Amino acid sequence: MVKVGIPRAMLYYQYYPMWQSFFRGLGAEVVVSGETNHTILVKGAARVVPDTCLPVKAFLGHVIALAAKCDYIFIPTVRSIQPKVYNCSKFLGLTDMTRMVIPESPPILDIEIDLNRGQRRLYRDIYRLGQRFTANPFKIKRAALAAWETHCLYRQLMAEHRQTPAEMMAVLFDGEKAPSPAPEPACARTLIALVGHPYLTNDRYLSHRLLERLRAAGCTVLTPEMLTGAQLKQGLEESIGQGYWTYEDEVVGAAGYYLQSGVDGIISLQAFGCGPDSLMTDTAQRQAKKLGTTPFLSLVVDEHTAESGLVTRLEAFLDMVHIRKRERQPLCR
Ligand code: SF4
Repeated sequence: MVKVGIPRAMLYYQYYPMWQSFFRGLGAEVVVSGETNHTILVKGAARVVPDTCLPVKAFLGHVIALAAKCDYIFIPTVRSIQPKVYNCSKFLGLTDMTRMVIPESPPILDIEIDLNRGQRRLYRDIYRLGQRFTANPFKIKRAALAAWETHCLYRQLMAEHRQTPAEMMAVLFDGEKAPSPAPEPACARTLIALVGHPYLTNDRYLSHRLLERLRAAGCTVLTPEMLTGAQLKQGLEESIGQGYWTYEDEVVGAAGYYLQSGVDGIISLQAFGCGPDSLMTDTAQRQAKKLGTTPFLSLVVDEHTAESGLVTRLEAFLDMVHIRKRERQPLCR
């Protein structure tokens, strides 16, 4: 059986269930790299110039980890998924960069996703990708439709059950039961919105286990995946009107929505060396400042970030959040 490798990095957290469904529907076996660790990051970072952003370095490390384990590596080029909204240049060049800097990589399965070029072209490209596995057009169509349904279900369930991608994948693939989101009395727990790209916030190594640290500190953590597309769009429109970057809704849209919904604090996690993030986080931070109701913490990580420094900032921020919460709701002491 043909083995298709999928790196557990970059767009993995958004689209893995869809990709897995598609390739399995075509009769392929899907192999995923393990969680990011020091070795993966160091190996990836060694292939590129130092000012490459952290998630791309990690991504390359994942490709290296997969190289000997599969027949193909799947690296889609996602240019645009909305009219006149484009992705960061690092995404656009990811496939070519991988070919250049990891010559030992198995052949790369590439597909360009650019909705600005029309749906016909996208369907044609999906069909061409499917032809690498089967000559049966009906099988390709069935696999593509099943993949899209899987993606919609995945998104819907994450928002309904307030689950992270890892938690929802455990429900979808390992048969775990999705818990109902606990009704939160107004002052029962501290609500913290963690915004940022999924490949940072959901990567336990790159994020220094930020999500788990927040939960261990007694916070209920809300992430962009726990919002519906309509809610993200609403947050984006209320903050800046029209977005410019693909996935801007994960930062500006989520922060905008959570600011209005009355969370106790917002943490933005961004990668050092990321141009789009510096603009998006600044926009979200200004919005928070303008409203003046919600403490906002911006954390920037790279491969040299010291865990102790990050933890100190987090503890100081949570202290401030708790003080503000007690001032607003004295009975919550
Ligand atoms: S958006 Fe930022 S973190 Fe993401 S790939 Fe582009 S430069 Fe890197």
